[in-house]
Amino acid sequence: MIAKIPIFSHTQRSFVEQLFSLMGKGKLHSAQMYARFLKHGDTDVLCEPQARTLFQEMLEHIDFSLPTLSLLKEEGEIVKFLLKYKDGLESESVVIPMESGITLCISSQVGCQRGCAFCETGRMGLLRNLSAAEIVSQVFFAQFCLKKPVRNIVFMGMGEPLDNFTEVKKAVEVLMDPGGFAFGPRRITISTSGVVDKIYAFIEEMHPGIHLAVSVNAATNKIRNKIMPINKQWDMEKLKEVLLCYSAHPRRSIFAEYVLLEGVNDTFEDAENLARYLQGLRVKVNLIPYNSQSRYPFAAPSFSCQEAFAKCLRERGYQVYFRHPKGREIMAACGQLGKRYSCNFGSN
Ligand code: SF4
Repeated sequence: MIAKIPIFSHTQRSFVEQLFSLMGKGKLHSAQMYARFLKHGDTDVLCEPQARTLFQEMLEHIDFSLPTLSLLKEEGEIVKFLLKYKDGLESESVVIPMESGITLCISSQVGCQRGCAFCETGRMGLLRNLSAAEIVSQVFFAQFCLKKPVRNIVFMGMGEPLDNFTEVKKAVEVLMDPGGFAFGPRRITISTSGVVDKIYAFIEEMHPGIHLAVSVNAATNKIRNKIMPINKQWDMEKLKEVLLCYSAHPRRSIFAEYVLLEGVNDTFEDAENLARYLQGLRVKVNLIPYNSQSRYPFAAPSFSCQEAFAKCLRERGYQVYFRHPKGREIMAACGQLGKRYSCNFGSN
């Protein structure tokens, strides 16, 4: 039996080519079908009674299957949803309304091998990478099944996206394809804990408009080693080298993500060290007060301490923003994804 073509893994062009190589006809119809499904979410395409024979013949060669929804939780306008794949594993995604429109936070892996000390997903270990089709299906589900007009996509859900570079890159190509979802590069952000060799690959292979977010979280190796094991593989000096290389491109800027942990990385001296570390980079700093969870030995610093930290950076010329926890009650906030696996409840 010939394998069906998974529509979520393809750009319009490669979809049309694949289908043509199987059928030897129907280029125009397959391009239309792709656009109807991925641009407009028109799933009637699957059951049109009046579909012409060619259309029906094409449907037999295409895999349109979506994962099943296994959980959906809402807190105000924040929606967290879990999709279950054929092997029973699940990804978590979060819909977050922002001033600029709806942001969708998606997963690139089930679990994560990087083991950051403050992160729920890190406790799971890595169960497996998601395929490009599984990554894209999270966007399709939010946009067309939940009917959320997604404006921005951030790879900040479960997993280290750059540990799944090939599939993430493929998914980004599908999401940016003008024949389908047509997300502009500036509407996509990929977050990393600092996988240095893959940041070099990102510089070489990804569209320069796509944003890179880096979880810095400390300004010295001593502190970063304690909370982010990846720092023992690529220390802060190696990370700075690649970020300088990234910043050399005039269209590229970096979001430096910094989770504020009381008594760990939140002093005035830490802020000064961070300012020094970021010198020479085209960077905006996102400060994220930690989402306190009872079974972790961390807490968010006081409001005044958060403000003093931000002030120190601003006085040294940095643009600083706070990302305040959203979706805390439904375990959708930063560092909370993956709870479903670790405590049977029911992200860099
Ligand atoms: S913060 Fe990101 S890289 Fe670190 S363990 Fe969590 S998901 Fe993995």
